[in-house]
Amino acid sequence: MDKEVPLSQPAPTQLEDPRAHLSPVWSHYTDILVDHAEGPYLYGDDGRRYLDFTSGIGVTNTGHCHPRVVAAVQEQVAKVIHAQVNIVYHRPMLALVQALTEILPPHLHSFFFSNSGAEAVEASVKLARQATRRTNIIVFQGSFHGRTVGAMSLTTSNTVYRVGYQPLMAGVFVAPFPYAYRYGWSDEETTTFCLNELRVLLQTQTAPGETAAVLIEPILGEGGYVPPPPAFLAGVQAICREHGILFMVDEVQTGFGRTGKWMAHEHWNLEPDVVVMAKGIASGFPLSGIAARPELMARWQTGTHGGTYGGNAIACAAAVATIGAMRDEGMLENATKMGDALQTGLRQLAQRFPVMDDVRGKGLMVAAEFVHENGDPFGKLAKQVVAECKTRGLLLLPCGSWGNVIRWIPPLIVDEGHLDEGLGIFEEALAAASATIGAHS
Ligand code: PLP
Repeated sequence: MDKEVPLSQPAPTQLEDPRAHLSPVWSHYTDILVDHAEGPYLYGDDGRRYLDFTSGIGVTNTGHCHPRVVAAVQEQVAKVIHAQVNIVYHRPMLALVQALTEILPPHLHSFFFSNSGAEAVEASVKLARQATRRTNIIVFQGSFHGRTVGAMSLTTSNTVYRVGYQPLMAGVFVAPFPYAYRYGWSDEETTTFCLNELRVLLQTQTAPGETAAVLIEPILGEGGYVPPPPAFLAGVQAICREHGILFMVDEVQTGFGRTGKWMAHEHWNLEPDVVVMAKGIASGFPLSGIAARPELMARWQTGTHGGTYGGNAIACAAAVATIGAMRDEGMLENATKMGDALQTGLRQLAQRFPVMDDVRGKGLMVAAEFVHENGDPFGKLAKQVVAECKTRGLLLLPCGSWGNVIRWIPPLIVDEGHLDEGLGIFEEALAAASATIGAHS
């Protein structure tokens, strides 16, 4: 530490602005003080309405305060709030297990529950290490798996997540993700290169006999919303099978209908050994988990992992209601339809604003990448567009290692009217930001 931290005075009894007492470690995209929220809209305490196309970072897939989720939570909260999993069983968890077995691939029907995405990622690593008796984990360039010490060590999307926190957990190796747009290669060339590099990694840095698992986001999330070329994930799975390495998919951001399937890996007919879930699973209640093959889970020694709150009764009740609402209201189909419409709308705008050089995604996991004329990332412009959108009542988030990708993750209940409203604001914001920053045309 450079300087000694000065001793502070006790806080006054009545705080002038409680916000000033929050840790500065939290970054803030906006200064909105939210009053309430409904469907795709957030309402500030100043009476302003915002179209929330962040979904709280891909969480409120059923929209804010979906009536079915609210009712399930209200009913559960009056029955039992905390029914600790090591002490008793509770019905919402058993109902959730039933619901998950109906929507997940049939071979994945053994579950562990926790609270956050990072916690579920860590659980997958602990399971993999203990079940295989191997130590190492392979992740991909641009990955985001969370911010706890273990998960941070698996995260390679930006140095901001690890600066000042070294040394990291050992035993993590990084292979290239097939970001064809950034490499400037065809899908085929990129796939061949990346699969070959994965083989090189296994030949030169982490021997297959020491490699417990490959952990991958089926669509790169925080790293830039990059769907892989069609053949890539099957190639990775085949390499895993060849060497007895577990193939684990992190569906924290891509899961729960976001891409038009319950889980994004279904787009490529894969058979992962472990699926990591969180975010959209419970419409905003802190719940996460992993689903694994039962024979794999059977090798996880009783008592060697757990947590006080994992699989909380209210969160599980919210998850059951979330899955029911998604199924009964056709939200997956809507995600596919609205996602296509959104990409079409963004591509039309890209003709007028060529600085938005690549529009991509699956379902309602859509993004536009901003670049300078020479192809370099243009994060400053993307940031300004996001700010101009906020001023006009639309909330969007950036992503990508250079912050030059704007992601669109509206709730899966949006209709054409909501998309038109969002695209209209976005168009104005693009024009305003381009005028301020100066974008090429
Ligand atoms: N994995 C992925 C793919 C994510 O996108 C995230 C969060 O954005 C995480 C893991 C970590 O989840 P949490 O922030 O709930 O710990």
